[in-house]
Formats: sequence, C-alpha cells, structure tokens
Amino acid sequence: MTEPKLLHIRLGPSAEGQVRSGHPWVYDKSIREQSRPGTAGEIAIIFDSKNRFLAAGLYDPHSPIRVRVLHCGKPLAIDPLFLAARLKESFEHRRELLDARTNGLRLVHGENDGLPGLVVDRYASTLVIKLYTSIWLVWLPGLVQTLISSEPSPDRIVLRLSRNVQDLLKDQPTYHDGKILHGSIPAQSVVFQESGLHFEADVLRGQKTGFFLDQRENRQYVETISAGSDVLNTFSFSGGFSLYAARGGARSVTDLDISAHALEGARRNFDLNTGDKSISSVRHERVQANTFDWLAQTDRRFGLIVLDPPSMAKREIERARAIEAYQHLTTLALKRLRPNGILVAASCSAHVTAEEFFDAVRSACSQGKSPMQELRVSRHPKDHPTTFQQAAYLKCIVMRSGTQTRNPTI
Ligand code: SAH
Repeated sequence: MTEPKLLHIRLGPSAEGQVRSGHPWVYDKSIREQSRPGTAGEIAIIFDSKNRFLAAGLYDPHSPIRVRVLHCGKPLAIDPLFLAARLKESFEHRRELLDARTNGLRLVHGENDGLPGLVVDRYASTLVIKLYTSIWLVWLPGLVQTLISSEPSPDRIVLRLSRNVQDLLKDQPTYHDGKILHGSIPAQSVVFQESGLHFEADVLRGQKTGFFLDQRENRQYVETISAGSDVLNTFSFSGGFSLYAARGGARSVTDLDISAHALEGARRNFDLNTGDKSISSVRHERVQANTFDWLAQTDRRFGLIVLDPPSMAKREIERARAIEAYQHLTTLALKRLRPNGILVAASCSAHVTAEEFFDAVRSACSQGKSPMQELRVSRHPKDHPTTFQQAAYLKCIVMRSGTQTRNPTI
C-alpha cells in the first residue's frame, strides 16, 4: 500500500495574510482549495498563492477551526521530535516559576506555546493534559512518552477532555475524560503548593484541570493588601484568594460561592494550611449563595472585596450583556465596601477586552458615593502567555475608595 499523499491546502488572500503574520487558526470558510478530505490530527501543509510552502498545521474535520497552525516559515517536518522540542521550550519558559514554594503551574498554554488546543498543568508530581480539540489524540502516545521523560519526571499523567472532545469520543473505548495515562489513580484530590500554600486539585473531575492556576499573581497581590481587613471573596471556588488574604493578616475571610462543593473544597484547603498561624487563627466563613443576590440584600461591609466571576461572555454575541453585568456587579460590591476599602475585580471573558472591562469597572466606580483611586491593573501571568488577540482573556483591576496617596509597594 502506498502512503497517502500529504494533505495540501490553499487559502483566500486575507487568511493567507493572517497565517503569515503568525495567527494559529485557519477557519473552514477561508480554505479555497484542499487536495483531499482530511482526518483528525493529520498534518496539513498550507501553500501560498505563489505555490510556496507557507505553514504546517494539524487538520480538524470536527471544528470550524479547520487547521491549527504549528509552524509558519521555512518547510520543516512535523513529527514527534518537533513536538517534543516544543514541549521542552514551553517547560523552559517557566522554569523559574517552579520552586520549593510553587509546584502547581501551567506548563503548556495551547496556541500561545505553539501547541494549539493543548494544555498541560502540573500539580506536584501529577501532570494533567487537557485537550480542547481531537487533533491531539493521534499524537497522544508520543506526547505522554515525552512528558514521562521530562524533568522532573511525573508520577502520574491524567487526561482531561473538553466537552466537545468528550462528545466526539462518546462511543469509543480508548480515551475518556479523567483517564489515567500514566501512574496510579489518585486516592482523592492531588495536593500541591502555590506560593508556599497547600491546595487540593480535583484533577479527575474538577473545573478546568482542577484549579484556577491563572490567578496566582493576583492572589499574591491580595496577600499584600489584606492585613487587618474583613475580606469577602466572591465566586470563591476553593478559596484561592482567601488563603492568601488569611496569610496576609486578614481579620476575617468570607468565601461566597453558589456551589456547596466548591465551599467544601475551600474548607479543606484551610485545613491543609493550619500550620500557618495567621490562617489557623482567622475567622473563616463560607456562604452558599448567588453573589448578585447576596450583595444586593446583605447589610454587611468589608475592607476588601474580590470579584472573580466565571466567564460572562462565552460567545461574541454575549459581549455587551457581559460588560453591563460587570458594571452592575461592581456597583453592588462598592455599596458593601468600607471607607478606604479595596475592590479587586477580575474578568476571564475572552470576548470582553481588557480596556472594555477596565472601563466598565471605572465607570461604576465613578458613579459610586466615594471617590475611587486606581491602584493596579494586571493581565496574564508568565505561565499563561498570550500571542494573539483571542487568547487574551484574563484581566484584573484594583480600586481603593478614598483619596489617600498611592500605596508605594505597588
Ligand atoms: N476565584 C476562584 C475561581 C472562580 S471560578 C479562584 O481563585 O480559584 C468561578 C466560581 O464561581 C465557581 O466556583 C462557581 O461555582 C461560582 N459561581 C458561578 N456563578 C455564581 C454565582 N452567580 N454566584 C456565586 N458563585 C457563582
């Protein structure tokens, strides 16, 4: 049997320009010519209008993002060695983040690390591979081998699948969400460290890959501004911001989440850190409620409020509503803030730009009772890099009520 010829693709002029400038996605509608039908994960070679090699990527017949580009420029072979080199580069990029106090971080952030639709997170000696597209399934055995031989070598590798990949794999026995690809099944959750704090990650079933690793730097900042405050952590999930606030000397911390399961996780995370005096002695309260409703009806006030809701715009069409919701949420929170209180507002909606979000928060602040001073804005941390516009989802702004001078530590 002869080898099937490589899949060749030609694009319309505007898509060609985008690929040339480094964009990692080729949509089905911008493909002008295709040599034959393609299968999930096979290599697609993109030629330019002058018939020269332009780029190579992986073909995805199941997604409107039909090709995910791996390489653009001079022709080169896409093979397990190429992918292993990409993984290695990605690990090297965050080597400095992995230390005695932090062994939970993102090792591969999809497109932004040149491996589109592929995420690898480390939680102590467990690695979690999360696939957002089925193109990686055919490459998975090689990727797992590379990860096993990486330094520090993992004891366990878990596979997590996005909803669309789970649906595609419904009727086959090889892979499923939560499959152990290497090592043993974890007894319960995996415990790891972030900035010297212990946390659980439910790597088999938890949201994302078990924890929100992208908020590490914003949490570190919260630790520096929490001393003496009553802290309200809304959309708290497993209490990430609260643990930092408690270690930073907060007087009390209140976790507020709609999910009882998330709040149980927060309780266990506090239990994991009782070795720290500030944490073991802080008043920790957990409230199960809808943040919008609770903020609207409570008469309690706080010195620091964290707002970190889930994505409010999963699609472009939801963008305007999301911006309004952010503004509304900020207005509700401002009413619960003490004089000189601090508001930390984050957004993870990719369809709302950082400037749109910051403006929504600033605008709500300018309509509030007290003058507000902007202390800080932040975007993505080093282990969640962004190389193209659609990948920039995370932003955070910190505002303080009152007119005191800037905090010199910021
Ligand atoms: N800040 C967290 C991550 C937040 S994830 C961290 O640092 O880890 C979003 C959380 O919001 C989830 O735990 C979800 O249960 C919760 N949630 C979603 N809608 C909510 C609502 N209307 N009110 C309160 N919590 C909500």
